[in-house]
Amino acid sequence: MKNDALFSFIVPVFNEEETIEPLFEALFDLKSKIDGRIEIIVVDDGSFDNSLEVLKQFQSKHDGIKLLSFSRNFGHQVAMTAGMDVAEGDAVILLDADLQDPPLVAIEMIEKWREGYDMVYGKRRSREGETFLKKVTATIFYRCLKSLATIDIPEDTGDFRLLDRKVLKAVNSMRETDRYMRGLFSWVGFKQTEVLYERKERVAGETHYPFRKMLRLAFAAIMGFSDVPLKVAVALGFVISIGAACYAILAVAQAFITDTAVAGWSSMIIVTSFLNGLLLSMLGIVGLYIGRIHEENKRRPLYIVKESFGLTKVPTAERALYF
Ligand code: UDP
Ligand code: MG
Repeated sequence: MKNDALFSFIVPVFNEEETIEPLFEALFDLKSKIDGRIEIIVVDDGSFDNSLEVLKQFQSKHDGIKLLSFSRNFGHQVAMTAGMDVAEGDAVILLDADLQDPPLVAIEMIEKWREGYDMVYGKRRSREGETFLKKVTATIFYRCLKSLATIDIPEDTGDFRLLDRKVLKAVNSMRETDRYMRGLFSWVGFKQTEVLYERKERVAGETHYPFRKMLRLAFAAIMGFSDVPLKVAVALGFVISIGAACYAILAVAQAFITDTAVAGWSSMIIVTSFLNGLLLSMLGIVGLYIGRIHEENKRRPLYIVKESFGLTKVPTAERALYF
């Protein structure tokens, strides 16, 4: 079944001049092992090193390479989106440029797809060459998200995965600004399965996900797929109000029954400052959600493509701008 299938490999690239060559070598090697045709879609996410030049050379020398270049850095999640918008394959495979996700695993993913699965995600059995901090924060994050999110997002799973055309269409239809792709992938449903793999060290260069960016991604995930923070705000507010009411009764009783009414100044201060702190943080949580509404309401394009090479069709994606 589907022996002349077309597979689209989507690779976001941000300052990866050293990894591009090994990447293409790995992909060309993979091409000879796959039963079917492949296209390679590279999205240059506003690199300011030599990446774009190197990519242009590969694109002009080989067939079946589409290259999009953003007008600035729009981030990994958006770069994937752009690649998905122009993919024509019967199935697409999302891959990082640094070969941390071994491309050969795609063969197993394709086998599963041929068995009838619509989405095959790579689950990390181990992570090599990543810092202790990254591993610990990743573990905590996946566990927290699991308990907070309204949908089931698989643990220890990155963006490395195969999506059938149906899933691609469903995910592409969601044009929200603050994109946590792994959440969107889970949200659409369909028949999903996993393949286990060892996450390798980068072939070259360094991670573009420092702690700050990981935190931002974690926020996008929690805010986009959970309303638990809002519920916590409401529940805490409720509990504190009951506590405050009890204390008020106590204070009134104290004033009537004893003559030590002026005492209790320190408890007053404690309660007031505690309540103010709490109020501010609750307001902050509400503010975060409102901020998202504001961001969404602007309806700005998700990305701007300043140059593209090798596209076979005029892209029609919503909220995207091409030059
Ligand atoms: N990337 C991107 N835009 C960014 C950051 C990263 O397109 O703003 C790409 C990067 O080139 C790589 C992939 O996203 O292909 C994953 O990034 P990285 O390897 O730095 O993340 P990590 O694997 O450390 O989580
Ligand atoms: Mg990486």
